[in-house]
Amino acid sequence: MLRGLIIGRFQPFHKGHLFVIKKVIEEVDELIIGIGSAQFSHSFENPFTAGERILMIAKSLKYENITKQYYIIPIPDINNNSLWVSHVKSLVPPFDVVFSNNPLVRRLFKEAGYKIKSVPLYNRKIYSGKEIRKRIVNDEEWKDLVPKGTYEVIMEIDGINRLKDIIKKDY
Ligand code: NAP
Repeated sequence: MLRGLIIGRFQPFHKGHLFVIKKVIEEVDELIIGIGSAQFSHSFENPFTAGERILMIAKSLKYENITKQYYIIPIPDINNNSLWVSHVKSLVPPFDVVFSNNPLVRRLFKEAGYKIKSVPLYNRKIYSGKEIRKRIVNDEEWKDLVPKGTYEVIMEIDGINRLKDIIKKDY
């Protein structure tokens, strides 16, 4: 039984993330999807709560008819990088391999003795959380950049107006 871990902020969960998850889940028996920076919400960098991000991912993967077992688990940041891997381990099921391109994440798991694998890139110019957040506040086309599940959650929670409100400067 090979269980993998992939961690991202997923602000929001977009088609690039979906592409990556569909690829890496093929390499393992079970996949843990960690929602990083889980304590943050209602800022331009991190507009959506951990619960909302869980919904986006769960709905999007359901539409893809993924049959393999996966777990979606929120992981709040901690103020100490040298303890972070132990913190992650305390929150998620045991895992054998970590998928990440983030140099800090790779380094921390490597020092803890884990096997690390790189993840594929998928048109990073447009499939980017920052680009999607920017398009939402500027009323530009963004719907096609996210899976249907993410679009439905953003509409359900009035996410467009949330993003527009939190970037207002005059308060
Ligand atoms: P991230 O902050 O979510 O992403 C960093 C950048 O990499 C973003 O521009 C992101 O784009 C991009 N990216 C994400 N997946 C990618 C992919 N498959 N290919 C190319 N680029 C990709 O960081 P992360 O590595 O995805 O998530 C790491 C999480 O671990 C963060 O929440 C971080 O706070 C947490 N962490 C915490 C500690 C601590 O608490 N001490 C230590 C280490 C890490 P998108 O915006 O489009 O996703």
